[in-house]
Amino acid sequence: MRAYDVILKKRNGQPLEPNEIAFMVEGYVQDRIPESQMAALLMAIYFRGMTPAEMTSLTMAMVGTGQTLDLRSIPGCKVDKHSTGGVGDKTTLVLVPILAEAGLPIAKMSGRSLGHTGGTLDKLESIPGLRTDLTPDEIVSQVRQVGAAICAQTADLVPADKKIYALRDLIAAVDSVPLIASSVMSKKIASGADAIVLDVKVGSGAFMKTVHEARELALAMVRIGQEAGRQTCAVISDMEQPLGNTVGNALEVREAIETLKGHGPADLTRLCVVLGGLALVLGGVVSARAAGESMIHDLITSGSGAERFRRMIHAQGGNAKIVDEPALLPSAPVVLDLKSPKSGYISRLDAYTVARAEVLLGGCRGESSLKPDPSVGVVLKRKVGDFASEGDTLAEIHAGNRESGGAAKEVLLTAYNFTDNQPSQSALIHDIID
Ligand code: URA
Repeated sequence: MRAYDVILKKRNGQPLEPNEIAFMVEGYVQDRIPESQMAALLMAIYFRGMTPAEMTSLTMAMVGTGQTLDLRSIPGCKVDKHSTGGVGDKTTLVLVPILAEAGLPIAKMSGRSLGHTGGTLDKLESIPGLRTDLTPDEIVSQVRQVGAAICAQTADLVPADKKIYALRDLIAAVDSVPLIASSVMSKKIASGADAIVLDVKVGSGAFMKTVHEARELALAMVRIGQEAGRQTCAVISDMEQPLGNTVGNALEVREAIETLKGHGPADLTRLCVVLGGLALVLGGVVSARAAGESMIHDLITSGSGAERFRRMIHAQGGNAKIVDEPALLPSAPVVLDLKSPKSGYISRLDAYTVARAEVLLGGCRGESSLKPDPSVGVVLKRKVGDFASEGDTLAEIHAGNRESGGAAKEVLLTAYNFTDNQPSQSALIHDIID
């Protein structure tokens, strides 16, 4: 087989056979196929797309390039959850302890910030002392003892994704449904879970800008999961404005703890209830979504997830006292208020612009390879539908210094639009595919 012929076939719009896809993926990971030819194939896929069968073959070929985490020694159905990336999305920090409380063991491998979107690992690492680089044995042992772990992907999990993702980033081929679907699902399948709940974000702060695109991605991922023998479902959730009231690593950990204690913002709590309800159905804890949602709601209101979070932090070497004393989390030396320039209802709070402010503060890696500052971020005091009088505080900016705070404040103001009449709230959940 020749790489040239595989590229030509895809370039001409013909579907590839599983062995042709495996030949390219394995050859690229083992340095037998040069970057130029892989780049050509990825661009052909970008323009020609892939059939569902090709997407499954690509996913499984990628899984086959590395190790798979073996969770079989943990009793019960292991459910995983994945978000395609958003702004202020701290649902994993809430859901993992809550699902463990509901009796579902969960070994969650998370990522770092990607582009403008935040990463769960960066948030979690704002907890003093906490380790995320757990070995496979440590993950299994912790989940057996505590019921929950949130950690980094192990080094040899889907090496093909690391290499192909970096190349996609170089050649402007990130926003492709078959390439995103195979990238996400290869990591989920290799992480060893029996069932997967996907949170596909849509809106200005997400990679998918329209509900139509998000649904296409969700359907592709659900199909891949099911063909790989994993029960899979997806929620399409809104990312026009940030989720919850905080954006920033330590600030988001604080808000997740508030939510675990039953005092979280309504949108974050609702999304956790919906995703958690689906996870309980897939995990066989309940037979209907409504019962699952009601159980998650009760667990959140009771505050019992906070104790499970404490135990998880302790098991990973972190200072669990932060759950009761959030002042022990890193805090920024400078806090600036963004005042409303006029009176009116907030009609738009653009998530992407808020993320740009966070990048300026140094809380999100953006394009740089610098370590994110755990202490900085934004606390949103007004969101879409709220009324602000001129001079009211719209947001607090937590900055490392006045200069970065001032720059972020200028950008953040442009995220807000005002109207005289109260706008209708846009839906938080656009669709559920199960
Ligand atoms: N997240 C991933 O893991 N992969 C993609 O391709 C895009 C988002």
